Amino acid sequence: MRLSRLPRSRNHLRRIVAQMDLPVPWSRDELVNSVARRRGRPILVVPVAHALVRGGHFGLWLARATDDVILYAAGTSDIHATHIICHELAHMELGHDRTAIGDTSVDSRVLAEAAPSVDTTDVVKVFGRSNYSNDQEYDAELLATLIMSGRRSTMCDTGGDPRASRILGTF
Ligand SMILES: [Zn+2]
Repeated sequence: MRLSRLPRSRNHLRRIVAQMDLPVPWSRDELVNSVARRRGRPILVVPVAHALVRGGHFGLWLARATDDVILYAAGTSDIHATHIICHELAHMELGHDRTAIGDTSVDSRVLAEAAPSVDTTDVVKVFGRSNYSNDQEYDAELLATLIMSGRRSTMCDTGGDPRASRILGTF
């Protein structure tokens, strides 16, 4: 079978996508809720000034005592923002908080300034690009791309025009 020639990790990632049981087409909220439900922890998604997440990564995961916060760079296209969030969700689905060494000494002043609406006092760990191995980054990006490709293929069904999908989605 053709499938057996794929790397094992890719099959593993495809299984995760199947288990996520996303509606077709999925919305960003439905995607976030699906991961939150599977983890049993609420996920808060907050746009922040690009300055906080500069330096090669556009998203940041704040693991708090009872929930998780995803900070993502504002001022980018809708599809790019969704991909950034998707990448952080992929790290969560892959359980990278259990294997990566997150930062525990967080500059809460910088965080509080960047995301004033987010309570940063009970942040337990912060995960950004520098906290993951290259393999973890590769897996997260591949999983994010697999999830996003499902989204794109549903757009093709409506003629491939993202604007048309958005309008259709509005009604
Ligand atoms: Zn990453």
